[in-house]
Parts: sequence; C-alpha cells; structure tokens
Amino acid sequence: MSLSSLSTLNSQLSNCVLCGTCRSVCPTFGVINREPASARGKVSLCSAFLNKEITLSERFIKHINECVLCAACEENCPNDVPVIDIILAARQEIFKKGKTDFSRIAVSKFFGSEKIGRNALKVASKIQNIFFKQVPEESGLHRRFPLPFVHGKRLAPRLAEKFFLEDRRQKTEVRSKKDKSQPRIGFFAGCLINYIYPNIGEASLNVLEKAGAFVVVPLDQSCCGMPAIGIGDIEGAKRLALKNLEAFEKYELEYIATACATCGDGLKKRFKELLADEGEDLQKRVENFSSKVRDITELLVNDLGIRQSPVSGLRSPVSIVTYHDPCHLSRGQGIKDEPRKLIEMSGHNFKEMKNPCKCCGMGGSFNITNYEFSMEINRKKALDIKSTGADIAATTCPGCIMQIKDGLHQLGVKAKVVHVVELITLNN
Ligand code: SF4
Ligand code: SF4
Repeated sequence: MSLSSLSTLNSQLSNCVLCGTCRSVCPTFGVINREPASARGKVSLCSAFLNKEITLSERFIKHINECVLCAACEENCPNDVPVIDIILAARQEIFKKGKTDFSRIAVSKFFGSEKIGRNALKVASKIQNIFFKQVPEESGLHRRFPLPFVHGKRLAPRLAEKFFLEDRRQKTEVRSKKDKSQPRIGFFAGCLINYIYPNIGEASLNVLEKAGAFVVVPLDQSCCGMPAIGIGDIEGAKRLALKNLEAFEKYELEYIATACATCGDGLKKRFKELLADEGEDLQKRVENFSSKVRDITELLVNDLGIRQSPVSGLRSPVSIVTYHDPCHLSRGQGIKDEPRKLIEMSGHNFKEMKNPCKCCGMGGSFNITNYEFSMEINRKKALDIKSTGADIAATTCPGCIMQIKDGLHQLGVKAKVVHVVELITLNN
C-alpha cells in the first residue's frame, strides 16, 4: 500500500467507535486533557474534514500537529484504527495546500537537503560558540541570547566538529578488510548521528567489527525521509528514498544496520509504502532493500548471534543502567528484548524504569515547534528515570537521547544518557 491519502482511509475512519481507550495512553492528551489532543479527537476531526463539515483551518492544523506519532493509540485500539496513517494523510492535505508551518518545513528541508542543509550545519558547527555557551559538566549548550526556535531553557545538542559521513570520507568508505566469510553490512547513519552524535556511529562500527562483520558506510546516503513524511511532503521523501536505494545498491550487502530507531522504522516500513506505485521493478528493489534493514541491537543479538559483549573488560565502576524504549523501536519494529540483552551483556546492573515504552515527547519536529508541550511530556519520563536511581539511561534512538538529556538536565538529574551500543564499547 502506498502512503495513503485521507480519502482512501475513509472506511477506516468510520471504524472508530469512540470508545476512548486511546485517551488513557495518549501522551498529548495526558498533558492538555482536551479531546482534539487524543487520537479519537483527531480521527473525528479528519472525518468531519472529509465530510466537508470543517475546513483546513488554523485550529484543525494545530490539532493535527499536536501528535508525537508515538502509536500508543494504535497499539491499544480495539478496532485497529490506523491513527498514524490518518494523521500523516491529514498532514499531506495540509502540505499540499501550502499550509504547513515554515518551521516544520525548515527542519525537514534542512535534513533532507544534502547541499543546503549540510553546508548550513557545517557553518553552524563552526560558529555555535558565538550563539551558545557550554553548560558545565554537560554535553549540551544553552543559548547566550534569544534565538528563533531555541527556548531559553533548552539544553541544545552541540553540533559535531566533524560530521560522521565527512569523517568517513577522509578515512575510507569501506571500513574493514574484505573477507568472504564475514557478513557484509552497510551502515545507515541518519541525520542525528551524522551531524550531532558521530560517537554513536563510531561505536556502532566498532561493535559490528568486533562481532566479525565487514562494514561499509555508503557516503552518498541521505536523510531517511521520516522528517519529510512527518510533515506530509511525500515527493520530498520519495526523492530521499531513491537516493538511499541507489547509495546502498552499489554494494552487495546482507544487512543494512542503523542505530536510529526512527530511521529503522522508516527504512523498513515507510520506504516500501512511499514507492509502492512506482512500478514493479522499483518495488522489487525496495523490497530487497527493506528486507535487509536491521536495528543494530536486533542485528547483533539475532542475526550475528553475539552472546557476550564483544569487547573485553567493563567500564569501571559498574553502573546501574535503565532503558527507555523508543516508540519507533518498541511499537514500530516490535524490538524490546534485544537492547536489554545487550545491556545485560555489558555487565552493568539493569534496572527497569516505570513505563519504559511511554513516549519521551520528542516526536521529530514536534520538539522544535511545540517545545514546552514536548518537555511537559518528557517530564514524566525524566521522573521515571530519576526514580530508578540509575547512573546511566540507555536507549536506541538519537532523538530520544537528545530529548532525555534535556529533560534530566532540567530536573537536575546527573545520569548519563547513552546509546546501548556505547555501553558495549565504552572500554574499547
Ligand atoms: S481506541 Fe480506537 S476505536 Fe476507541 S476511540 Fe480511540 S481510535 Fe476510536
Ligand atoms: S500517536 Fe501518540 S500522541 Fe498521537 S494521538 Fe496517538 S497516542 Fe496520541
């Protein structure tokens, strides 16, 4: 099925029996307690729009955008109402009519445009100290003076001095020596690892090599397209999907690994939907690509079958580690056990937090356009982490890492926030 339009979802909209089950799990409803913030409210609004009872008014657009796409509603809906598809379809209508906020378009274009976005971010990384000051003992920054889209309280992430893909270009594209017996793996970085957290990319490559793989980092890869899909820019997302397909098809790969839960969800599922109407040949190529995509935790545990941390030694002292399930990994890809197994293998002490699958509030550009709302959702997550007494909060999505760091900082909690792969490479 291609990414659906609202009219093709009409019959599924009517499957909503208004039971309200989704309200109890919806993080946006949990904060503002207004009907249009819930899945039920949004489904009703979309039905009313299709029946021409309401228009694409500012109020309609606001309510449709007040969603972090966490899919908790879908998971709990007794009638399998495809809420995420409905919201994405409504956002397509908004985008087609040119009514998408400038800030949302800017975020998507920034990541989606290889030249403009990359060059602008390169300049920004060189001059970030003029606009931001380092927060003592933190890896993040506070603004020095008012800036658009940067809230005064925000712990902003520091842009990498060398972007992950550029750094790889200066080394070699092909990471390891070729050995026919090794599993051949292409690494998909994604924007946040490329521009902000190259350390997660390096940790991923290290652990894959330690696990015996032959790793390739195709340098022509792009954004996964999820920011474009999130604002309803389907043509923009298709362009990125084709670029990524070509970048990875140059190599004979058994697997395509990613350390970003959102990229993985997009490349496994949305990628196929995006290109579903583009002819049989392309469809086969996309099926082949998507069937190889693995989250790095899934790849290490299930496909490469590692049974113990592939690096010797353990970070000292042994820490208490808790784990946050990113929505795009737990609900999106059904992966919950693998990251926990890797934490166990790391030798640290694992302590489960309350509600580990509850959304952290990031929601892609939601965190930029609705910062205070997003941090209100995050506050519950930060409190759940605090209650564990953990020294380390681990997760598997760079977006969640950014959000949780900010939330813990605002709560005055000193726990480190890391990707799970960093736990098994810390002593390397
Ligand atoms: S849980 Fe499903 S059927 Fe019930 S109100 Fe929500 S969307 Fe409608
Ligand atoms: S996807 Fe999440 S935030 Fe959006 S309506 Fe469903 S439960 Fe609420």
